[in-house]
Amino acid sequence: MVTPGWDGPPPLGVVVDLDDTLYPQADYLAGAAVSVGRAAGDLGLDGDAVTRALAACLATGSDTGGTIDRALLAVGVPEAALPGLVPPLVAAFTGHTPDRLDPYPGAEDALRSLLAHVPVGCITDGHPTIQAAKLAATGLSPLLPAVVITDDLGGRAMRKPHPAGLTVLAERMDVPADRLLVIGDRPGKDVAVAAAVGARAIRIRQGEYASAPDTPPAWAVVDSFPEAAELALRVLAPAHSFG
Ligand SMILES: [Mg+2]
Repeated sequence: MVTPGWDGPPPLGVVVDLDDTLYPQADYLAGAAVSVGRAAGDLGLDGDAVTRALAACLATGSDTGGTIDRALLAVGVPEAALPGLVPPLVAAFTGHTPDRLDPYPGAEDALRSLLAHVPVGCITDGHPTIQAAKLAATGLSPLLPAVVITDDLGGRAMRKPHPAGLTVLAERMDVPADRLLVIGDRPGKDVAVAAAVGARAIRIRQGEYASAPDTPPAWAVVDSFPEAAELALRVLAPAHSFG
């Protein structure tokens, strides 16, 4: 692995994204679709068909909203019935609590090695209840002492690349925001939010946005979290030495 050039002072902390950075978000979405299908069955619909339709809608873009409406229409629910059916199914989606979401291979050890050198934090967009349930299910919470769920700061408008979340996280980590190194999968969010505070980012090509263009460009592009951590360790400020 070639280390790209790094000019200027070294980063003093690392911030990681959650979905498709530390664990495959598709695993969560598959489970949530099953929960919604089960709730749909309780409402007298064909639950398995709703699960399949929702999984298909989520696969075309999990970030777009209105996925449950589209799934119901796809299984033949008349539009007039949506207002009565969508709210309880949205509640089933939001309330889906996975028992376990396996991190990507090597992600836990890689986080541990970063944490041995610098403060590490996590910034994630999404419904706060859902994001907290996902993080808990990965088992990685003990390695992420500082977490900001951007929606907690003022709803969807605070999502990346809005700089507020990263600024708040930097304060909690006691690191100047422009001395952070951000690791994430989405150029338009993770790379852009780093740029918004004068920091740099490593983009991981994995998950739903693996083939998205490198816009804005990251400091480095890698294929896995352990690779990202290894690169970060090469440029981080040395761990505090004694004397
Ligand atoms: Mg992500």
